[in-house]
Amino acid sequence: MNTDVFAAYESNVRRYGRSFPTVFTKALGATIWDEAGKTYIDFLVGSGALNYGHNNANIMAPAIEYLAGGNILLSLDMYTTAKREFIEVFVDSILKPRGLSYKIQFPGPTGTNANEAALALARKYTGRSSVMAFTNSYHGMSLGSLAVSGSASTRELGGVARHDVIRVPYDGYPNPTFDSASYIDHVLGDPGSGIEKPAAIILETIQAEGGMNTASTAWLIEIQRICRSHGIVLIVDDIQAGTGRTGDFFSFEFAKIDPDIVCLSKSLSGSGSPFSIVLIRPEMDIWKPGEHSGTFRGNNLAFVTARAMCKMWSDREFIAGVERTAVKLQALLDGLVTKYPKCIERKRGRGLMAGLKCRSPALVARVHDVAFEIGLLIESSGPNRDVIKVLPPITISDDELHDGIAILDQALQEQASED
Ligand code: PMP
Repeated sequence: MNTDVFAAYESNVRRYGRSFPTVFTKALGATIWDEAGKTYIDFLVGSGALNYGHNNANIMAPAIEYLAGGNILLSLDMYTTAKREFIEVFVDSILKPRGLSYKIQFPGPTGTNANEAALALARKYTGRSSVMAFTNSYHGMSLGSLAVSGSASTRELGGVARHDVIRVPYDGYPNPTFDSASYIDHVLGDPGSGIEKPAAIILETIQAEGGMNTASTAWLIEIQRICRSHGIVLIVDDIQAGTGRTGDFFSFEFAKIDPDIVCLSKSLSGSGSPFSIVLIRPEMDIWKPGEHSGTFRGNNLAFVTARAMCKMWSDREFIAGVERTAVKLQALLDGLVTKYPKCIERKRGRGLMAGLKCRSPALVARVHDVAFEIGLLIESSGPNRDVIKVLPPITISDDELHDGIAILDQALQEQASED
């Protein structure tokens, strides 16, 4: 496989190309091919950006028609037919059936762009400067998002000071018996705590990069109650956990909370095309016209594919299929946990957002490499990279799911027999 040009000219910063050292060329559903014609099952899916699989026919057909039709591709934040149709379907198929009411901001196209907009709005709305953020969180690589992220190596990037962040323990940190919600409630109410009231609390319902740590219903409800009682904006960063990943469209639906601000990106376009939105409780939409602006806020191809993706959520059979797949995945992973107690400590996550907390980072690294050799793309996460992150497309076929799990099984088997 010729990878010379990447080594010669692509920056040292490249990461996934190193961990999957081949050259990919085609993809369909959960299967991806390299130039040598070798197939791989994709349990990485663009780090959660391809929840609907590669080249999903329901999503790509309208995109191909749109591209061939001489339609608008980039429109800044002007009004276009594609944007109107996206908004209509998003409201009718996603928001209204869930009893949610939000204004939609179109920020820049990446996840971190959405978080920056959310943080800026919360600060403007409250007039406060600090934000509460959690241990092991990950919110992106621009300065505001870096500041609220937990990882030490991430936070050091850029070499500038990152003020105005109050770090608090996530659900279950540092151990399952510690009640972090009560702690937060307490310090916010105690004039001696030395912790000022923040503009916002920003959280992920499952900390994907942080090791698939999973917040409980009770904790999420309590954090929302604390936000409401102290007049703090609740921001849910649903960039990786949202858009169907947990089996529901939003990752917080199971807890029946309604955050003030929700950030979506990654799988929002359904196609891998960059696209983000910020959902804002209507009374908080205090932006002045043009106050937050930028070039790539009108990716019309993404509007078209996102609309097709959202329409799928009006189809009961589609929803039932996702639920069935989630149950199957969880059962298959339970099987691995039982079979390899020497390798796997426990399962984490929810729905199709699953993780296997393993006994050591070295073991995870070996499983990753062996799985790649056999034909499975899978990622690790967590501050110590000791969690196998299992993210199949939510539309994966039974055959592909079984093939992927069989490879993971084989890779674990090799480690179990070596120990
Ligand atoms: N928030 C979360 C929860 C994420 O998982 C990510 C990406 N891994 C981001 C924000 C940043 O998104 P992007 O890489 O598109 O800026």
